[in-house]
Amino acid sequence: MLLLKNVFLNGKTQDILIKDNAFAKIASHIEHKNCKTLDCKDKAILPTFCNTHTHASMMFLRGVGEDLELFDWLENEIWPREDKLTPEMVYHLSRFAILEMIKTGTTMFLDMYFFVDQTIKAAEEMGIRAAITYLGMDVFDENETKRRQGLAQTFLSNDSTGPLIYKGLSCHAVYTTSEALIKSFKEYTRKNKTYLSIHMNETQKEVSDCLAKYGKRPIQLIDDWGILDENTIIAHAVHLDDDEISRIVRAKAVVAHNPTSNLKLNSGQMPLQKYLERGVRVALGTDGVSSNNSLSMISEMKVAALSAKSAANSSTAAKTPDVFKIATENGFEALGVKAGKIEEGYLADFMLVDLNHHALLPNVNLVSNMVYSADSSVICDVFCNGKPLMLDGYVAGEEEIVENFKKVCKELS
Ligand SMILES: [Zn+2]
Repeated sequence: MLLLKNVFLNGKTQDILIKDNAFAKIASHIEHKNCKTLDCKDKAILPTFCNTHTHASMMFLRGVGEDLELFDWLENEIWPREDKLTPEMVYHLSRFAILEMIKTGTTMFLDMYFFVDQTIKAAEEMGIRAAITYLGMDVFDENETKRRQGLAQTFLSNDSTGPLIYKGLSCHAVYTTSEALIKSFKEYTRKNKTYLSIHMNETQKEVSDCLAKYGKRPIQLIDDWGILDENTIIAHAVHLDDDEISRIVRAKAVVAHNPTSNLKLNSGQMPLQKYLERGVRVALGTDGVSSNNSLSMISEMKVAALSAKSAANSSTAAKTPDVFKIATENGFEALGVKAGKIEEGYLADFMLVDLNHHALLPNVNLVSNMVYSADSSVICDVFCNGKPLMLDGYVAGEEEIVENFKKVCKELS
C-alpha cells in the first residue's frame, strides 16, 4: 500500500491511498498505519498518457532522412535501414524508447513493429503497460500472406506474457496489405477479443490510389470488408469524407490522432474538432520518432490543439480539457484499460508534477499549463499499476539503457 499525502488534485489538497494497483481512497485526510507514505507537498497528481500509435524501436531513425516526401522517405531512407535490424537491436531500441516514454509521462503505448517478442521483453522488464501488436504486411504476395497469418495466430495464442502486456494485431495499410490478410487479422482479433490497428487515410495520395485500385475510399473499403468495429484503431485518419466519418461513428471505431507526424510529413491536418463533434472516439499518439521526432505526449497535446484550431479556423476549437482527455483517458479506454483518471477504483497509473516549476506557474489552470506551457521537466515521478517507474526524475538502469542504445545506433549508421 502507498499513501500520497498533501497532493494537489482538481484544485484541492488531498490524500490518496493506493492499494495493490488501484486508487482505493481519495479524501482530504487519510491516516493509515503500516503503509509507505510519500509527502507530495507542492506536487500535483495527474493521469499518465496512453500513446495509441507508435513504432517504438524507430528511435535510431531520429533525425535520419529529414525533410523528404512520405514515399521517398519510406522507400529510400527508412525501409533500407530497418532491413539491418536484429532482434537484439530491437530489444535495446525498445528499452530506450520506453525510457523516453516514462520520462515524458507515458505508462501505456500501442506498438506496431518487428521482433515484437523483444519489445515485450523490454516492456515487462521496465514495468510499463504495452499493447504489442504482431504486424501484418504482405505486399500482396500470397506466400507472405500465409506466413503472416500463421505467425499472427501463434502470437495471439501464446499467453506466457504478464498482466501489463495487451496483445493485439496490426496491419500496415491498404496499399501494402492484401484484403485476405486484413480480413483474417480481424477475424483472429475478434476470436481473441482484442484490437486491430491499421494506418488509414493518412495522405491524399493513399485515398486517390485506393479509389483507382478498388473504386472506394480506404475507410469505405475496409468497412465493406467488415473490418470496422469498436476494437479497430485507425491511425492517422486525416482525410475522411462525411460518409467515412459516419461509418467510423457507427462502428464506434477509434481514431489514433498523430498531429505532429501529419504536419511534419505534410500529410494534412486532421479536423479534430469536427471529429469530436461528430462523436468519433479519438485518442492521441506520437507515431514513430522518425516522423515526430519525439515520443513526448506533452508536446503532442500542444500540436494537437494548435493543429485543430488551425484546421477549424477557430480559436474555440480543441478545448484544453478535450485535448488532455484524448491523450489520457481516451487512449486507455480504447484499449479497454481502466486508467487515465485519478478516481477511486481506477488503476494507479499517474505522475506527480512540480507545482513550483516555472512552466506550471501561475497555477490558474493546470490542464492548460500541461497542454501549452509544460515540457517533461515538470514531471518528478511516474507510477504504473501502483509501482514507481521514475522517482525524482530517475529511471532505474537508465545509464545502461542509454549506453546500449548508442552502441546499436553506431552499428546501424
Ligand atoms: Zn505509424
